[in-house]
Amino acid sequence: RRCEQVRNFSIIAHVDHGKSTLADRLLELTGAIKKGGKEQYLDKLQVERERGITVKAQTASLVYRYKGTEYLLNLIDTPGHVDFSYEVSRSLAACQGALLLVDAAQGIQAQTLANFYLAFDQDLAIVPVLNKVDLPAAEPETVAEQMHQVFDIPPEECLLTSAKTGLGLESILPAVIERIPPPPGNTAGPLRVLLFDAFHDEYRGVICLVEIIDGHLRKGDRVVASSTGDTYDILEVGIMTPEPTSTGRLCTGQVGYVITGMKSTRSARVGDTWHLLKQPVEILPGFKPTKSMVFAGVFPITGADFDALAAAMERLTLNDASVTVRRENSAALGAGFRCGFLGLLHMEVFHQRLEQEHGANVITTTPTVPYSIEHTDGSREEIQNPSQFPLGKKLSGVWEPTVAATVVTPSEHVGSIMELFQDRRGEMTEHTVLSPARTLLRYVLPLAELGGNFYDSLKSITSGYASFDYEEGELRKADLVRLDLLLNGEVVDALARIVHRDKAQRIGAAMCEAMKEKMGRQQFEVIIQAAANSKIVARETLKAFRKNVLAKCYGGDVSRKRKLLEKQKEGKKRMRRVGSVDIPQDVFHALIKS
Ligand code: GDP
Ligand code: MG
Repeated sequence: RRCEQVRNFSIIAHVDHGKSTLADRLLELTGAIKKGGKEQYLDKLQVERERGITVKAQTASLVYRYKGTEYLLNLIDTPGHVDFSYEVSRSLAACQGALLLVDAAQGIQAQTLANFYLAFDQDLAIVPVLNKVDLPAAEPETVAEQMHQVFDIPPEECLLTSAKTGLGLESILPAVIERIPPPPGNTAGPLRVLLFDAFHDEYRGVICLVEIIDGHLRKGDRVVASSTGDTYDILEVGIMTPEPTSTGRLCTGQVGYVITGMKSTRSARVGDTWHLLKQPVEILPGFKPTKSMVFAGVFPITGADFDALAAAMERLTLNDASVTVRRENSAALGAGFRCGFLGLLHMEVFHQRLEQEHGANVITTTPTVPYSIEHTDGSREEIQNPSQFPLGKKLSGVWEPTVAATVVTPSEHVGSIMELFQDRRGEMTEHTVLSPARTLLRYVLPLAELGGNFYDSLKSITSGYASFDYEEGELRKADLVRLDLLLNGEVVDALARIVHRDKAQRIGAAMCEAMKEKMGRQQFEVIIQAAANSKIVARETLKAFRKNVLAKCYGGDVSRKRKLLEKQKEGKKRMRRVGSVDIPQDVFHALIKS
């Protein structure tokens, strides 16, 4: 097959605008999957089905006959959420074009902008598609006008479809063939391969997704991974239809999979260039390495589950090399791990997968962002755990990561959104009216302020009608302190956090109060204190009370008495001792969440 008959494209969109549904329809249209099967075929993970989001980009090759010629169209489905934008950009690197999908009832949303710019930066041909035109609220003309205003796309270029009813579906693939250029590679070689993704299959080991930039790749070839110099034998090569289907070879421009006997996805350096042994080539630019932006401790619920947790972590990180994992010990929670994630959603998804796919019961500590501190001698240090933040020592400064945030909202909520962002230490950088009823706002704000209940607040003040997205910003100097919670004078390390000085008293008082309420009475008096850089800013006292579980047992029902005593014993097992105080496990859960 020649390059001219190959097209590599992606579908990019705001979440829920219909990417996965459209991908299903295109797979059906070309006979790759049967009609009426399970929906969102390419969303394979349980968490993806439950949350209705795509986490891992997937690839499918479609064979399509157009004007008497057979084409091989490689469709790469991408996740829409910002935490997974590294998946989007690496998928786009294997494409020459993208379908930019927009819900015709909702119009352009925050992630539509972010994804458009990812594609635009990579010089991809963009095919605009207005989806969900079957909805009564659809306003394709208004949205086409927005596409013109925001992206400079002529309204007549927009295709209209309904991925649900199939309306307009037949216009998509012809537009892909006519508007997206074929891959530009040199068929005469030498072989140059871009590795753009890899995943772990229980039965077949590591499966690498590749684009053949130049030349041909055959089964039996011996290739060199240029980043490490490691050599691999190509044991199997083929295309995703969407199941891996062996073809024995891949030609210039094709996207497909290879199996090399590689043991871990960590050996598959995404963005790497492969070439034949003794035939070196110019290395492809590769991808920016991913950086962890959110850190949290992950601990087993009881110390005895540590080995099970360690095994589950090992299995899960095999398939998600973007999570960093280190051993960590906490005085309060025992042995566990400190993990780095790309963002909060990534962290939640990881936690959920740990529990669902691996049956591990875990407690995750309050997430923290990486802070950069400068010592008085000018040296810098990155702090990934609040309890590493030095106390009683002068610092020249503390810097925190920020984000460049985009909000698209119905205009009537602009006032309350501005208040929310001000409270979150945001600075407005743009205010654009998109259409009479819609406004686009851009802010720079600290990444840490996206934690807590930021998303819930945004949702409740806009009744869920605002969309939000962000990209990494610069480091910004800020007046930050370490906030500790103390029980009878002992610091509970797992509850430490780094906060802005102006908020330390308020947050400290709320933590003390929550602790008092959750702990219930203890056998001895307990002093609960919050300290900002070792200075006490809030205090509560928990009165002593000898807990008598039998007090509620009027009369002498023996079996009931025994049950209560058992229950008390069970409760004791789930306690963590800090200094002289026992803390029930659920107090950690509650405080970490608050
Ligand atoms: P993704 O997040 O972009 O992958 O979106 P999905 O494909 O998961 O679709 C989100 C929701 O929109 C699902 O409930 C779909 O059934 C629905 N949906 C997708 N396309 C259409 C459409 O053309 N019309 C209507 N009415 N609903 C659609
Ligand atoms: Mg999807």
